[in-house]
Amino acid sequence: MTQSRILMSCLKYLAQCPCPRCLILKSNIPRLGMKADASDRQRLARIDSEQIHHKINLARHRLFVNGKGIKSVFVDGLLQPTSLVPTRVRILISFKRLFLIIF
Ligand SMILES: [Zn+2]
Repeated sequence: MTQSRILMSCLKYLAQCPCPRCLILKSNIPRLGMKADASDRQRLARIDSEQIHHKINLARHRLFVNGKGIKSVFVDGLLQPTSLVPTRVRILISFKRLFLIIF
């Protein structure tokens, strides 16, 4: 019960894919708790990848270097389909550098 409350508080309010853990569409939220929902959550799990990093870096470049707006086709067209946000978490970047140093 507590886990559900925490997840509900993490939802992206107006996003097409509001869940931070998977790519379930907002239109499928009424199926919550059904067998199809459980399989969709596994099938559509968000997985960190170079492709996602590339999209975020490209969006940040268009925002901060090219001066495009957050709601412009150039930025929103990249991020909106999977409800990405153009932010980077510092600790992930540090772990990536550490990984490169070790190996
Ligand atoms: Zn989810």
